[in-house]
Amino acid sequence: MSDLVEATREFIQQRVIPHDDAHDGDVEAAGGDTLRVTLQAEARERGLLAPHGPTDCGGLGLGMVDRAPVFEEAGYSLFGPMALNVNAPDEGNMHLLDHVATADQRERYLRPLVTGQVRSAFAMTEPAPGAGADPGMLSTRASRVDGGWLVNGTKWFITGADGAAFFIIMARTSGEVGETGGATMLLAPADRDGLDVVRHVGTVDKSMIGGHCEVRFTDLFVPDEDVLGGIDEGFRFAQVRLGPARMTHVMRWTGAARRAHETALRYVAGRASFGSRIGDLGLAQQMIADSEIDLAATRALLHAACVELDAGGHASAATSIAKTFAAEALHRVADRAQQLCGGAGVSTELPVARIAREIRPFRIYDGPSEVHRWSIARRALRRVEAADKAGTTA
Ligand SMILES: Cc1cc2nc3c(=O)[nH]c(=O)nc-3n(C[C@H](O)[C@H](O)[C@H](O)COP(=O)(O)OP(=O)(O)OC[C@H]3O[C@@H](n4cnc5c(N)ncnc54)[C@H](O)[C@@H]3O)c2cc1C
Repeated sequence: MSDLVEATREFIQQRVIPHDDAHDGDVEAAGGDTLRVTLQAEARERGLLAPHGPTDCGGLGLGMVDRAPVFEEAGYSLFGPMALNVNAPDEGNMHLLDHVATADQRERYLRPLVTGQVRSAFAMTEPAPGAGADPGMLSTRASRVDGGWLVNGTKWFITGADGAAFFIIMARTSGEVGETGGATMLLAPADRDGLDVVRHVGTVDKSMIGGHCEVRFTDLFVPDEDVLGGIDEGFRFAQVRLGPARMTHVMRWTGAARRAHETALRYVAGRASFGSRIGDLGLAQQMIADSEIDLAATRALLHAACVELDAGGHASAATSIAKTFAAEALHRVADRAQQLCGGAGVSTELPVARIAREIRPFRIYDGPSEVHRWSIARRALRRVEAADKAGTTA
């Protein structure tokens, strides 16, 4: 295992970081899909591609606990997850397809994704009044027709949509907007009539290939064989993707935050101010120590959630807690690194400003912090109420 971590670190340092640094983490400016194909070919040669992917499709089959240090090394460069084929949304889609796809879907969609032949997208979020933090607002409709479904609706913020070979679409097959059931996951090749990537939505981050796009479905036909999982069971099957995908984001962003922190440590070790190294000044030491604590606590919460996931649990509470803490803690680490580096910390001279920029949206996607806190609090109340009813301790 440690050999794989070491080999990943070496690959990222030698072959990936130079592209990241030369283009300030802007993946399209660095070459987009051309760069992806080049780096993935090299990762494949080194035996590093898709460490989490199922082995029958060409991956290395690592579980959640084992993949954590590898993904952290990949995340050390903003382009590292793409280079190893462990980036969002492809990595989460692989996990979902591995658990839910039929044998035929596995061949047509999962295998080319694991081998890096294609990219994919996961289309859930909609402009108001559709699905956002509240998935029950799902408004994209799939209506029954002979041999399949006709999909109509608009999605946005769909990562990787520009250049994706296929989409996993969450659409309402029954029930009304505001109801929590009635969703179905549908697979659709990107070149099918009725599926249009309308535009890129401009966002602060720049490192995710294929952008975050608005996508429109107009009478898009999805045959029955491309229903993923069961009809009206989309939310249940989406849970398969949700917990692990939250945790792999934590792994990758831990790597990025660690790079920001280490960059700041080198800066304050080498820069003098008011007669001492900045790193020896008390207020600077407080920031350094707090970042060490945030990184260690993130890894500990991540590990606890991954143990639960590897044991076959949904780990809903553990992943919610780890995701909320990590999204905030890792951004604090990157922000402190910016402060410690002075002017260079808000410039393109060092990687810290772009790392802060890239981590910021993590507090919003995969469930905004407020929504996670809401469900963490509700679980806590239910626990005490259940214990009181049973006459036990919570
Ligand atoms: C960079 C990026 C990439 C993304 N990639 C994808 C993707 O690939 N596929 C996809 O489907 N979606 C994607 N999304 C969308 C993302 O999942 C949504 O932005 C997120 O679910 C929030 O939905 P919303 O933007 O509609 O916010 P809204 O639902 O409008 O919520 C706005 C804010 O309201 C507050 N809020 C909401 N509910 C509560 C509550 N119960 N209690 C307190 N406060 C609350 C929160 O602060 C929240 O941030 C991406 C978003 C970003 C920024």
